Amino acid sequence: MINSDRLVKTFCDIVQIDSISGEEDEIAEDLTSRLESLGLTVEADDYGNLIANSENFDSSFESPPILLSVHMDTVDPGRGIKPQVADGVIRSDGTTIIGGDAKAGVAAVLEAIESINEDKAEHLPYQVCLTREEETGLHGARNLDFSKIYAKEAIVFDGEGPVNTVTVAAPTYIGFTIEITGRAAHAGVEPEKGLSAIRIAAELITRMPQGRLDEDTTFNIGLIEGGSVRNTVPEDAKIVGEFRSQNIETIDNIGLEIKDIISRVQLMYPDAELKEHLHTEFEHYEFGDKDPTYIRVAEAMSQMNLTPSMKSSGGGTDGNVFRLKGITSVVVGMADNGMHTVREHVKVDELTDAAQFCEIILKAEQ
Ligand SMILES: [Zn+2]
Repeated sequence: MINSDRLVKTFCDIVQIDSISGEEDEIAEDLTSRLESLGLTVEADDYGNLIANSENFDSSFESPPILLSVHMDTVDPGRGIKPQVADGVIRSDGTTIIGGDAKAGVAAVLEAIESINEDKAEHLPYQVCLTREEETGLHGARNLDFSKIYAKEAIVFDGEGPVNTVTVAAPTYIGFTIEITGRAAHAGVEPEKGLSAIRIAAELITRMPQGRLDEDTTFNIGLIEGGSVRNTVPEDAKIVGEFRSQNIETIDNIGLEIKDIISRVQLMYPDAELKEHLHTEFEHYEFGDKDPTYIRVAEAMSQMNLTPSMKSSGGGTDGNVFRLKGITSVVVGMADNGMHTVREHVKVDELTDAAQFCEIILKAEQ
């Protein structure tokens, strides 16, 4: 049976192991030993993602295993997390995140496995995949050794809110960088000979869209860099931004708009060099009622008297990568609220539901 106290303890233990993206060695070691003591065979791939197989797993299985997937990394400020449990809610001391994204998911999966072991319950063969560097751009999932993944279906614990929050669509997400090269000159002696890259960057930025463009589309310039010292006309500048949309046509149009803005500004400053680089961070997906994994998820929820609450997401998860690799994935809530802020908190009853849901998924018939 799912044991709430044990679940909360596991959660509080693992959030106290710092695991900022790129620094997952310690958490990986801890989770490896936890999974091994639960009877799973654990291995790390070359990128450091963990892949664990259940004791009844056999790669020649006619019916493939189900994949439970969660990321191990957390965002800043996420060092020295001190979890506090009060009134059924787990919070940090207010100076850090609590790390529920996605360790609430990790704890729920561990509790489900422990409960099944304890009850000696019949269960599907399963794999557990714990990825690195999700928060910085799904790097772990992108570099995952898929030759070790036999599952065709995945449940990804990475949604905000209670477990029945199901992510139905994730956007296409394009990152871009524009590099501007002007000409340096002494700012006081001969500014006429200079060409300010920062000025050109400003021309570009003021022409670009900003914020929420429509219901499905957002645009952000998140970083500018440029110049060297106060008394030199800046030779270099860089703009880094992103846009996301559920609508592929909108994505194409924004890409064209950026190129158009660049060529217009280039005409104003023919001596400058403007180089742009657009790259797809992840691709849009959506699924309907007929999706086999969605059906599996909805059935498990109905056993808990929960109805899936469908939300389209502005963010990407490892589920985007799995879908690209042909693994039908459904992203469910992991009992986390206010993710990526110091107000982040996890409700104990929601966390228990997430573990319960995971247990039902594993106990289902093939
Ligand atoms: Zn996450």
